[in-house]
Amino acid sequence: MADKNTVEKFLDNNPQFAKEYYDKKVKADVITAAFNNQVQVKDPASYNDVTTIQEAEFIFDLIKGMIALLIQADRCSYFGSRARNGIPELTTVLFDVSHNSPFEKNLVDSTAEIVFPTDMGIVGWTAHSKKPNIPRNVLLWSASKVFEELTDIERQFHKALYTVRTYLKCERYSVGLLDMTKEKEFFDEWPIKLGEQEPYKGPKTPDGREINFYKLIDYLLEDKEEIKVIPGPPADHWALVSGLPTYVAENGFICNMMNVGADDYFTFQKEAVDETGWKIKNVLSLPIVNKKEEIVGVATFYNRSDGKPFDENDEQITEALTQFLGWSTLNSDTYDKLNRTEWKKDIAQEILMYQTTATLNDVQTILNTQDKFGSAPEDCDQKEMYKLLRSNIPDAKKVELHEFRFSDFPLSELELIKCGIRCFFELGVVEKFKVPAEILTRWMYTVRRGYRDITYHNWRHGFNVGQTMFALLLTGKLKKYYSDLEAFAMVAAGFCHDIDHRGTNNLYQTKSLSPLAKLHSSSIMERHHLEYSKTLMENENLNIFQNLQKRQFETVQHLFEVCIIATDLALYFKKRTMFQKIVEAVEVMPEEKDKINYISNNATRKEIIMAMMMTACDLSAITKPWEVQSKVALMVAAEFWEQGDLERTVLDQQPIPMMDRNHADELPKMQCGFIDFVCSFVYKEFSRFHTEIIPMFDGLNINRGEWRALADVYEAKMKAIEDEKKRLEGGGGQGERRCLQSKALPQSSCSFCICIVNFPLTVFLICSFYRSRWREFKDMRYLLDLQFMNVCLDVYLYSVCVCAQACVHR
Ligand SMILES: [Zn+2]
Repeated sequence: MADKNTVEKFLDNNPQFAKEYYDKKVKADVITAAFNNQVQVKDPASYNDVTTIQEAEFIFDLIKGMIALLIQADRCSYFGSRARNGIPELTTVLFDVSHNSPFEKNLVDSTAEIVFPTDMGIVGWTAHSKKPNIPRNVLLWSASKVFEELTDIERQFHKALYTVRTYLKCERYSVGLLDMTKEKEFFDEWPIKLGEQEPYKGPKTPDGREINFYKLIDYLLEDKEEIKVIPGPPADHWALVSGLPTYVAENGFICNMMNVGADDYFTFQKEAVDETGWKIKNVLSLPIVNKKEEIVGVATFYNRSDGKPFDENDEQITEALTQFLGWSTLNSDTYDKLNRTEWKKDIAQEILMYQTTATLNDVQTILNTQDKFGSAPEDCDQKEMYKLLRSNIPDAKKVELHEFRFSDFPLSELELIKCGIRCFFELGVVEKFKVPAEILTRWMYTVRRGYRDITYHNWRHGFNVGQTMFALLLTGKLKKYYSDLEAFAMVAAGFCHDIDHRGTNNLYQTKSLSPLAKLHSSSIMERHHLEYSKTLMENENLNIFQNLQKRQFETVQHLFEVCIIATDLALYFKKRTMFQKIVEAVEVMPEEKDKINYISNNATRKEIIMAMMMTACDLSAITKPWEVQSKVALMVAAEFWEQGDLERTVLDQQPIPMMDRNHADELPKMQCGFIDFVCSFVYKEFSRFHTEIIPMFDGLNINRGEWRALADVYEAKMKAIEDEKKRLEGGGGQGERRCLQSKALPQSSCSFCICIVNFPLTVFLICSFYRSRWREFKDMRYLLDLQFMNVCLDVYLYSVCVCAQACVHR
């Protein structure tokens, strides 16, 4: 009898025989073995089910073999196709198969199956198109890191391009993604308006967008496949330097460069583009257009595999492909649009459910016309009502309304509503802009009700920001640069700036997939506060700006946007230097008149100072007397810790130290860091700008000292504990450190892969996760979750998510 080695040697030397043998024998054996197993038939009446389950069991073994040997995947799912009422659909047959999971557990019962149409998602598309020339062997979706670097829309491109890359008979191709923003944000206009940045003069897309390739995806198909993502590619990047992609984006033409070297219009890089020595020979470049006829990107294919130039046939194939890409973005676009209205409705309902506008009784608690005149406000004389209102609200001096050191602690929330009204009387805007007494009262009361009763971002914080704005204008003498109307809008925006805050920050909205995060892509919460404030303005019973002219009203709306969006600390660093430059320019001007002109005659400078004033107001608690600051800091921290708790319980994530109550002892140290890195600049520059504001900077420095002292005490305590430990262990410190290190998971990169196999009637997917480092893995899951929400029915991602969750929970 021949031993194992001999057989192996024989088979190696006789490949033809080996092939014939396995073709004939092994396949049949495997199938027989598979069908000899007991098949569990849940509903024997249905022939369809029987065959599906038999097939499922066969494929189950096949997949398991593949998981273990071929691709070393962790998990996979198998989808079957069928028709219901003549409409094709895909359904889960096996779900979440791992190398050791039992068949019964993975077989999806008809009550639990996931059904999705074949015209959606990549699985559906693959099943639907059933391209005859898709190779039967496995296409490896080795997206790995690439996926994490792409946004939802970009992933659509990537998925589509990657899936079809085998039809593309070229050595390399790249996709340049175009910035879709039509209008710049107000804060991005600032540097241009100030003349610090050249206005854009370059080429534009047919719909008027600046041509900006914000990301490049570079696919190398030769030898070992590689995909590179280049965010913010420089203009002299080899894929862009010729100017061809820009030309295509500008004109929307398909460009076929048969001989790159001979072209004198576009100068392509002649030398090798990278260390692989690869050079450009011929190029085919096409626009990717969505259904709105906007050019969303440019796909460029390089060097046909057979060395010949691209021909008409290639143009047709690639055009079909780019059309498909455009179509895929349309899908997510329409999906987005459809849902946007839904989300808006959700949010509106949420607002309504949470609270309503101030009632008649609420208004009467402040403007008691029934008591005084025996009639409702609408039947009273406006002048009489102003008098009544003034007599019912606190005296500004008594409550220290003009002071930077103002504290809300001694006042009730109702009194704060009254103080808010007082601010407007002090500014002299109530009579000037004909704000009806009743409307002002109802608006102020409704703003208060718009704030939720949460730990920190509640009505008290909202009020404090409005009050500080008021104090900066009058006491800080910044009013001289602004008109009465502007001052009115700024203080009103201050009161509104955090309305309907939920006690969680923007990142949490994104991570928890809140309806707000789907509605706004940046400054999520701030945009919501703004929308909410504007909703109040739309209601004639609440609109304090109702007697303004149209132009004035538009100004107010714009100022609300600037003020409220400016409270997003993420924008703080954008405006820092611009603000500093204004302060420096004014500092050297000897004449007061020139200073005022320099600012008040320039809308942009006014906006920048206004935006910085909002930051100064929002952070003003840090400048308050220590008794106030120490309490407020605890409230801020408590709200952060509450978010940290949510991250742990709801999102299953480890919060950052600032939001982790286990790090509460480090609060003094963190306060010092916050003062040094964020707050110091604001109050220092404002003190330099206007000496009247120095008290704020002084307050800040006193608090800095207090926090430092507390931090020192804590650090000394920790050091003592550490020393004591060392002493007891006698140099055991080393051992402890080693132990801590061993807790960390092994260093390795996190990656996953997806395989798509096309069977005559079925499609299945294999997802694998391996060598995931704990942290990175969780982050990836979050990215995938996001993706999942956006392409909802895309089961491909659904299975990825499920796998990810399964792995995380393991
Ligand atoms: Zn705030």
